[in-house]
Amino acid sequence: MSSPVTIQRYCNSLVSYSRRKTRVVNIGDVAVGGDNPIRVQSMTTIDTMDTAGSVEQTIRMVEAGCEYVRITAPSIKEAQNLEEIRKELHRRGYKVPLIADIHFTPNAAELAARLVEKVRINPGNYADKKRFEQIDYSDAAYEAELQRIRAKFLPLIKICKEYGTAMRIGTNHGSLSDRIMSRYGDTPLGMVESALEFLRICEDENYFNIVLSMKSSNPQVMIQAYRLLVQKLDEEGFQPYPLHLGVTEAGDGEDGRIKSSVGIGTLLEDGLGDTIRVSLTEEPEAEVPVAQKLAARYASRAGHAPIPEITNYPIDPFSYTRRATRQVANLGAHQVPRVIADFSRHEAITPASLFAVGYRYSVPLDKWNITDMACDYLFAGNNAVEFDIPGTLGIIYKHDLWLSAQRKPRTYPLIDANQYRNGVEQSPELNFIQASIADVNQDLMSRLSSDQTAVLVIDTDNEHGYAEQRRIFVDLLNNHCGIPVILSRRYSDIPAETFQLYSATDVGGLLIDGLGDGVFLVGENCGSDKMVNETAFNILQATRTRISKTEYISCPSCGRTLFDLQETTANIRARTYHLKGIKIGIMGCIVNGPGEMADADYGYVGSGPGRITLYRGKEVVKRNVPTPQAVDALINLIREDGAWIEPEAVNV
Ligand code: SF4
Repeated sequence: MSSPVTIQRYCNSLVSYSRRKTRVVNIGDVAVGGDNPIRVQSMTTIDTMDTAGSVEQTIRMVEAGCEYVRITAPSIKEAQNLEEIRKELHRRGYKVPLIADIHFTPNAAELAARLVEKVRINPGNYADKKRFEQIDYSDAAYEAELQRIRAKFLPLIKICKEYGTAMRIGTNHGSLSDRIMSRYGDTPLGMVESALEFLRICEDENYFNIVLSMKSSNPQVMIQAYRLLVQKLDEEGFQPYPLHLGVTEAGDGEDGRIKSSVGIGTLLEDGLGDTIRVSLTEEPEAEVPVAQKLAARYASRAGHAPIPEITNYPIDPFSYTRRATRQVANLGAHQVPRVIADFSRHEAITPASLFAVGYRYSVPLDKWNITDMACDYLFAGNNAVEFDIPGTLGIIYKHDLWLSAQRKPRTYPLIDANQYRNGVEQSPELNFIQASIADVNQDLMSRLSSDQTAVLVIDTDNEHGYAEQRRIFVDLLNNHCGIPVILSRRYSDIPAETFQLYSATDVGGLLIDGLGDGVFLVGENCGSDKMVNETAFNILQATRTRISKTEYISCPSCGRTLFDLQETTANIRARTYHLKGIKIGIMGCIVNGPGEMADADYGYVGSGPGRITLYRGKEVVKRNVPTPQAVDALINLIREDGAWIEPEAVNV
C-alpha cells in the first residue's frame, strides 16, 4: 500500500459519484445497464417441476418489487417446464423476464434460451466437470481446452442471437474449473479470466447481449474480482457490459444483510453495478426490500458535496494490505480493529447499561463476564461513569469532563481538531482526536505524526462519506502519517435494518481496503445499543478483519435444494454459534454445494432426499447420513478434530 501507484481505473471517479457507463442489455421488456435504474432480482426456491408453486412464488417476488426472476434448470426437463411457468405467468398478467440458471448442462441451456428471456451460465462448469485436479497445461494443451469450450459454447450463442435471449456469464469463486485453478489459482484474476474465456467467444460471434458477475461468499474476494473485471474489460478493449452484483451464500438474518451490504454496497459506492441480487437463506421475497434499500441510496447520490481530486492513489484496490500504522494503546499496528460504543445520549450509565455492549456484571461473584462482542471503548460524552469498569474497557469522555475524571484508570479524552490545535491538556497515554476532511491539512498531519498518544477519529457529513473518508486516508498515506484511525459514522431516524445496511456499506468498504483501526457507529433513534454494537462486530466479521463468532456460509436454496435450509441453518446455528472462528458451509445440494461453500472448514451438504454428506474442508468424511442424525454427526466431527468447545465453557 505504501508505494505510490498511478490511479488504477476500475470506476469513473474515486471522489465524485457517477455510475459506470455500460451497454444496455435488453432482457425481455426490462433493460439493464446504461441509464436504466439499478435493477433488483432474485431466484425461486421451489422445485422447478412444481409449476403452480413456482408461479405463485414468482408472483410474490414480483409483487415485492423483483424485476427479473431466476429459476434453476438443472436438466432438460426443468428447462422445458420453464415454458409452462412462463405461459401461466403471462396468462395471469405477469410479464416479468425469466432467467434460467444453468450449471453443467449445455443442453438445458440451449433449450431454455429458446423459452425464456435470459440464461445464466457458470463458466466454471458449463463445459467442465470439476475433479479438483491440478493439471500442468502446456500452452498448446491450454489452447486445445479453449477450442473444446468454444465448440461446446457456440450452439448456445447462436440460439441466443436467433431468439434475442440475453446471457449472464456468472463466475463463482467456489466453482472455478480445474483449468483456471491450475493456471491462475483460486484468485480474483482466475475469476475474471474464467469469464473472459467465454466472453471472447461471444464477441468473436458478435454477440453482446451479456451481463457479467463475479460472486464469492467472501466480500473481499468478490469486490476485488469485480474491480479487476472492469479494469480488464477496459484494458483489453471489451465492450462495457453491465454488472450483476451479489455475495453468494451470505447466510440469513443480519449476518446475511451485513455481508451482502459490504460486498454489494462497496461496489455501488464507486458506481459499479447495474443489477443486484441479495442472496439470503430466507424466502426470496425477503431479499427484495434489502436490495431495493441498497440501490436506492444512489438514485440521488450524484451532486454530493465536492471531494478534492486524487492525483496519487496509494491504495491497491485489487489486493488487501492493511494500512501500516503505529500502535497506540491497543489500537493500530497488528491489533484487531476496535469497537467504540456510543453511550453519550444515556441519562446515566450503570453496570447494567453495559449488558447491551457485551459486559454482564454478576453481583454474587462480583465479576464481569465478557462476551466475544464486548466493545473495547465506551464513549460516555459528558456522562460520568461512577463504578469500576471491566478491565478490558476504556471510557472516552468529552475533553471538559475528562479533565475532571482523568484520575480514574482507563479514561481518555475526545479532543476536536480545534482544541487539539490550541494545545489543550492531553492524556499521557491515549487521546482521540476528532476531525473531518476540512481539518486534515499538512499542519494537523505533521502534529499527529509526531504525537505518539494520538488516534484519529474521522467523521463525515458528506452524502458520499465513504469516498470522503477514503480521501482522508489518501492524504495520510501520501504524507506517511502512520496514526491509527477510527472510522466514525452517524445515522439518525432510520430503522435498524437500514442502519445495518448503510453502516456495513460505508465502513465495510474501507475495512476491505485495509483502512481503519476501529469503528465508532452512532445510531440515534435507529435501534437498540445492542443492535448498534453487534452491527459493528458483524461488519468486522464480514470483512474478516476481526472474527468474533462462527461464520455460516449457507446457500440461498433453489429448486435443487434437498432439505429445509432455513430450519436447518437455524438448528446448526443454535448448536454451534459459540465456535468462534470456525466456518460452516450449509448447502442444499451436492451438485453445486461443495464447490460453492468455498473456504468453509466443515460442510453440511444435501446429497439425496433425507440424506446429508459431511465435509471437512473439501474432503468428504461421511456420506449419506440420515438427516435426523446429521447435526449430531457434524458436531462429532468437529469434536474429533479437537475444535469443539462446550457452550457452557464459553458462557461462564
Ligand atoms: S448449493 Fe443451494 S442454491 Fe446452489 S444449486 Fe445447490 S441448492 Fe441451489
